[in-house]
Parts: sequence; C-alpha cells; structure tokens
Amino acid sequence: MSENAELKVIHEPRSVLVTGTNRGIGLGFVKKLTEFPNIRHIFAACRDPENAQELKKIADPRIQIIQLDVTNDVSIDSAVDNISKIVGSDGLTMLVNNAGILIPYEFTSEVSREKIIEQYNLNSASPLIMIQKFLPLLEKSANLENGDQLSTSRAAIVNISSTSGSIQMIDGSFNGPLVLYRMSKSAMNSFAKSFSIEMRKTNILIASFCPGWVQTDMGGGNAELSVETACNILVPNALRLDAGNHGQFIDRHLKVIPH
Ligand code: NDP
Repeated sequence: MSENAELKVIHEPRSVLVTGTNRGIGLGFVKKLTEFPNIRHIFAACRDPENAQELKKIADPRIQIIQLDVTNDVSIDSAVDNISKIVGSDGLTMLVNNAGILIPYEFTSEVSREKIIEQYNLNSASPLIMIQKFLPLLEKSANLENGDQLSTSRAAIVNISSTSGSIQMIDGSFNGPLVLYRMSKSAMNSFAKSFSIEMRKTNILIASFCPGWVQTDMGGGNAELSVETACNILVPNALRLDAGNHGQFIDRHLKVIPH
C-alpha cells in the first residue's frame, strides 16, 4: 500500500452495485466488500445469476444478486427498478462499472466493424449508459448531505479501467493485441474526466481505476497478481477516494496514471 493510501480514511458507502461479479475482479471485489461492516447493501450484478456458483457461495446476507447485462437497456432498467425499491430514499451510494471484455486486435488482419463496435459497446458505451440510468439514484444519495464535499460514503462512481487506456503511456509494448481494448478504455476515461468537470454540481465523485495485471480469464494465468491480492488493495482504496481523486485516472495504490 502506498503512503498516500495509508493517510486516507475509509468512507464506507451505504450501498454498492458492482457489474460483472460472477468471476474475475468483480467476484473478488464483492468478496472484499463483505469485510466492511457499515455497508448495508451489496448488489452483485451478473448476466446469468442461476449459474453464478462462486458468487452464491459467499455467505453474506447483505449480498443481493441482480441480473444485469450491461449492453441491454431493458436489463439495466429492470436493475434500476429492483435496486430503487430496495434502497428507497437512500438512493445508491456507489456504482462500480467493472464488466469488460478484451477483443484482440492485429494491425495486419482485418477486424470487422461488428467486433470494433462490440469492444466499444461493452467497455465504453455501457459504463456511460449505466451512469446515465443510475444517475437519479446516485443523486438521491448525494443529496442526503449538504455542502459540496465528495466521498465514497456520499455518492461515487468507480470505473474499472486499465493502464492500457493511457494514451501518453503508449510505447509500443503489447501494441498489437491491445489496440482496440486500449481505445475503448481511453474513451471510458475521457467520459469520466468530462463528467467530473461538467457534473461537479451533483456532488458525485468519479474516478477511473486500474486494478493491475490480474490472474483472471482476461488477464491470463501469468498475470502479476491474484484476484485476492489485487482486491485487497483495490477495494479499500476505492473506499478511500475523496475530492482529491475526483476525475483522476489512478492505479490500485491511488497513484495517478497520465491520460
Ligand atoms: P474477466 O474476463 O475475468 O470477467 C469479465 C466479467 O465481465 C465477467 O463477469 C463477465 O460476465 C462480465 N461481462 C462480460 N460481458 C458482460 C455484459 N454484457 N454484461 C454484464 N457483464 C458482462 O475479466 P476481469 O475480471 O479481468 O476484468 C474486470 C475488469 O477489469 C474489466 O473492465 C477489465 O477491463 C479490467 N481490467 C482487468 C485487468 C486484468 O489484468 N485482468 C487489467 C486491467 C483492467 P460473463 O461471465 O457473463 O461473461
């Protein structure tokens, strides 16, 4: 953990919604959230709750599994309705846009327009639509407090991004296969930065987080970190975000990554 993170206080949200929680980082994120006693509702979203075996094994009554395909607006609307009924006038405190895909790209072979759009649809368009549709619930939570302070116990959006989305850090390494993925994460980061400035009046904190290179279906078996190791740092630090992190693109230690 960085010194920066050690100095920051944890602000536990009343409720958290995480997308893509049946496996990988989303599943690890939900497991780690159960260690925070003041969180009342943990909404664990996934496309196919019936087959989310690992998620169902987490024994914590605060977890509610929500069916959610982030590319399907009907599915998102239904999740908004379900969550709204549960949280009532408290609204939703924290939205974690985690679901993502990586479609490998090669400069030398043609990739169809459909594949390019699929990459953008999940990694760039879906977090944006999720934010739009959950905005009223996030605003409800933000409006429970007066003043213009920002914290994860007031209202927050965390986008799980990737260092690959940093345009300034493109140096030729891993260039080929990551090109489309990188573009999609840059677009998501661009939206978060714009939101942080133009929607400041809502008092909803927003940050883009890189979890590190993690052993998941996406990250592969040779990745640097286990899901548990990554989430042990990522989750507490996501709950440490404050006004200083608003609009930032940061790694799991809260160190700034250039856009
Ligand atoms: P995984 O491939 O292990 O998991 C991806 C998750 O996204 C699954 O739960 C999957 O659900 C879900 N998902 C895919 N499509 C949809 C959809 N249409 N609607 C809802 N959920 C969907 O990936 P990771 O856990 O590694 O990645 C999680 C996030 O972390 C991603 O945003 C990724 O870009 C980011 N990241 C990962 C890194 C790594 O090294 N692993 C590094 C940097 C960033 P299903 O099982 O139904 O497909």
